[in-house]
Amino acid sequence: MKQFLFLSLGILFFSCKEAPKKPSKDASKDTFGIVIHGGAGTILRKNMTPEMDAAYRKTLAEAIAVGHAILAAGGTSTAAVEKTIHVMENSPLFNAGKGAVLNAEGEVELDASFMDGARLDAGAIAGARTIKNPISAAIAVMNDSPHVMLSSAGADRFAKEQGLAVAPPDYFVTERRIDALKRVQAEKASGQASLDKKTAFYEQQRMGTVGCVALDQAGNIAAGTSTGGMTNKKWNRIGDAPIIGAGTYANNASCGISATGWGEFFIRSVVAHDIAALVEYKGLSIAEAARIVIHEKVAKLGGDGGIVGLDRFGNVAMEMNTEGMYRAHMNAQGEQTIKIYKYE
Ligand code: ASP
Repeated sequence: MKQFLFLSLGILFFSCKEAPKKPSKDASKDTFGIVIHGGAGTILRKNMTPEMDAAYRKTLAEAIAVGHAILAAGGTSTAAVEKTIHVMENSPLFNAGKGAVLNAEGEVELDASFMDGARLDAGAIAGARTIKNPISAAIAVMNDSPHVMLSSAGADRFAKEQGLAVAPPDYFVTERRIDALKRVQAEKASGQASLDKKTAFYEQQRMGTVGCVALDQAGNIAAGTSTGGMTNKKWNRIGDAPIIGAGTYANNASCGISATGWGEFFIRSVVAHDIAALVEYKGLSIAEAARIVIHEKVAKLGGDGGIVGLDRFGNVAMEMNTEGMYRAHMNAQGEQTIKIYKYE
């Protein structure tokens, strides 16, 4: 009898220990969470002043707090993503909205996309020049047009017709981005963008894209991404950020993902949807799925960047193959993580 008791206790102990950590469906009802990024690339401690480091952390904290408060009050993941991204679009620190990078002609062309994981509905804008908050225009395309993507002058016109805030092209331009364009163009002209330095060279051309994924108390996942693209990009170049499935994806059955990185590679790897597909069809954890797609797919093609994501239980992924990614996460308990460098 004694032996039997020990045996059963042992089995109980091991089965508890080994039990898969998959929360039940009901458990997802009272959990929520939010994760953001502000771009990935060669972000090294030695190249950052303490002031810049602090400024980025402060804005990441402000942005994520806005979305978290919406979710804590029972608001939707859509509202949380939109309002969180507004904070980063309005900050000149990031490559989205004000402070977006400049194309080869010295102009701003803005890309953004949004996806609602409950309805598998989506909206996007590309190459816009006058939309103050591109993420809101992407949401409006989803809600108030029969289309998924509008581009260039059509996107600007649609946003104006919708009564969204517009701004003259000068509003978006900052000294920092003018300098970056000059540097990149000079480097290119002097032939310094040689093959061995290609990745570093391209990395300098972007950085600072913003994205957000939220899971609300009703279990709905939303994801959004907003960017100015890459410095010195050719006219009308469109990156991964406004491409549903590449830069952004959300599905209540699996997860939500927002990406940042070398857009051409992220389009070719269909990054956001690929991660969601591994979670949905193969039952992988979001962290493992993200690791595979970033390190075994994007990296092998020669691209670099990162993603943030949340699955339907609130499990988080923040994966990159770069030296850093501005990123932050908050869970339902209000615990906050803010990181910049790869190792911290
Ligand atoms: N993915 C963006 C683009 O290629 C840039 C970035 O996220 O750094 O337009």
